[in-house]
Amino acid sequence: MKFRLTYRYQDAEQGTSARAVHHNGRWHVSITTPPRPRIPACTGAEVGIDVGVKNTVATSDGTFIQAPSWTPGEQRRFLALQRRLARQEKGSKRRVKTIAQLAGLRRTLNDRRTNWIEQTTAALARMYDLAAVEDLKITNMVRRPAPRPDPDIPGSFLPNNARAKAGLNRAILASCWGKFTTRLADKMTVIRVNPGNTSRQCQCQSCKATSARNRESQAVFICIECGHEAHADTNAAQNILGRVINTNPETPGDRTQRSRQRAASTALLPAAQPAA
Ligand SMILES: [Zn+2]
Repeated sequence: MKFRLTYRYQDAEQGTSARAVHHNGRWHVSITTPPRPRIPACTGAEVGIDVGVKNTVATSDGTFIQAPSWTPGEQRRFLALQRRLARQEKGSKRRVKTIAQLAGLRRTLNDRRTNWIEQTTAALARMYDLAAVEDLKITNMVRRPAPRPDPDIPGSFLPNNARAKAGLNRAILASCWGKFTTRLADKMTVIRVNPGNTSRQCQCQSCKATSARNRESQAVFICIECGHEAHADTNAAQNILGRVINTNPETPGDRTQRSRQRAASTALLPAAQPAA
């Protein structure tokens, strides 16, 4: 089989096996090689990362990074092709053509996102020694929101944006978050923390108040206890980082001391037994 090498030759040379895959109308040859060493940042800096729909990535330092999407033109084209597909007869040549065109658009978006994930995770690994992310079950994030009863009219419901949330974009984004964390963990130390209430809690060390009313809007966080004001996603990212420090209060020094104590107590055991 002939193929074009798009990677460094030294990497391919170490390959132990190869696999040819046909995906979205394109052939790929992937070669299994030993994992690359992690990128050492050696800055001592730590970062909390919040993933979301509005801002794909928000860091505890207050930066926002957006995953690339379809252009408005591509989005229109995708919807138009989907409508065309629905009208076309099963098994027809025109239908096959439409399917190929749709696959092409998906491929474009996938390539764009994959490239973005690689570049962003590498940049983060070069800047920080440790990253904290939410331990999210992605399927929970794409499930339908709960119905909201209308208080004025019993038995009827307010719009809960179920359609918008169940949308295609959200589903694609969810897979993007998963790949993002996986690749980040390949490149640097990643700690997954409990995701509960990270967007509702105040990040101030002295306050830490949790309330749904803290969330002024999608973007604005105002603490009802202490008045702390921040971008909601930045506040969440800072909480995520804070949870690493809170759940692992011991420094490497503490850990050595504790294992030393444990070693000392086991050493004492045989002496204690005869007395008992
Ligand atoms: Zn507060």
